[in-house]
Amino acid sequence: MAYRTHSPQSLRALVQDMIVAAGWSAEAAAETAEHLVLANLSGHDSHGIGMLPLYFQSLADGNLSPASRPQTRLDAAPFLIIDAGVALGQPAARNAVEQAATMAKTGGVAILNLLDAHHIGRIGHYAEAAAAQGLISLFWVNVAGRPPIVAPHGAKEARFGTNPHAIGIPVPGGDPIILDFATSRMAHGKARVALNKGVAVPPGFIIDGEGRPTTEPRHVFPHALAQGEALGALLPFGDHKGAGLSLIAELLSAGLMGAARIDQKPAKSWIINSLFGILIDPARLEPSEALRKERTESYLAFVRAARPQDAADPVLTPGEKERAMRIERGAAGIPLDDESWSQIRAAAAAHGVDAERY
Ligand code: NAD
Repeated sequence: MAYRTHSPQSLRALVQDMIVAAGWSAEAAAETAEHLVLANLSGHDSHGIGMLPLYFQSLADGNLSPASRPQTRLDAAPFLIIDAGVALGQPAARNAVEQAATMAKTGGVAILNLLDAHHIGRIGHYAEAAAAQGLISLFWVNVAGRPPIVAPHGAKEARFGTNPHAIGIPVPGGDPIILDFATSRMAHGKARVALNKGVAVPPGFIIDGEGRPTTEPRHVFPHALAQGEALGALLPFGDHKGAGLSLIAELLSAGLMGAARIDQKPAKSWIINSLFGILIDPARLEPSEALRKERTESYLAFVRAARPQDAADPVLTPGEKERAMRIERGAAGIPLDDESWSQIRAAAAAHGVDAERY
């Protein structure tokens, strides 16, 4: 598989210029560029700049607009409900989480519903933003505007999105704990990366349209199916446990609120995320920063000290893998496969930006 390595700075500048050329403000472009490139730096290429061609397709189809503005529906502490109105997801979600963080710092807790944002990316980004303000955060997100792609436990066909779940716990003076994952065994975007690279996915992640196990990523992409083939499904992680968590994410983030749901037939080419979040000021639970730091770090040390199965693969705690990858890719650059790069180049060219100049 052919790929090229790009510096994070050049990709940030490219994404920023593409989004501005497409009609968004420099501020919205900067937030989105920072988010997407940080996802690549963290090793989550599925949620990095490779998503941009999909966003631009939604824009070209008239389904995503730079003119959309989130509207606050309820601002009554501890509740904050914002209707994103399918605005560009990363700035909409970041602003909503910042607003909820201010509420949590004042009153100790904030409960946030962000409804109908365009794709908001890597959910850990928002847990990191809350942790940077010293706050614990818990997020559940649904994925609508697309056909269901994850099978309930024991099913032959899909009923869920990849409905991610993220939790952040700040460590005073240290790195936060960031647990952030899709409730499918594999994020859909990781199957897209495998499809673009022309490689198989590991066994146990995907079933085909007849419910049979397969390692071919094309079975979860309608455009990649052969004539007459039915769409397959990703499997939930942890069998009934991941499937249950996915169902809860759908209901908490969108279902209870009347936001776009996975079982509504997609009318447009867009990806809609709604987010339910709880932000908590840990100082209300344990006022002493020193005690919180000591208690958390001593437990993390205990976990990391477990004897590894493989001496070359140390036991990690949530968030460590992404931090290590940021150091590695920050120095060596971000590898992008040729297919993803050619999609980005085409999306840039459609708005008069020459990606090769970055
Ligand atoms: P993943 O399977 O890579 O799991 C990541 C989590 O597991 C992180 O918290 C990481 O620190 C931790 N982790 C990884 N390896 C570990 C190890 N060896 N030991 C201990 N902890 C470890 O993540 P994923 O399910 O592929 O999800 C990727 C991204 O996709 C996430 O950022 C998620 O938010 C995002 N996502 C977004 C959407 C959306 O619609 N916006 C949908 C699905 C997923």
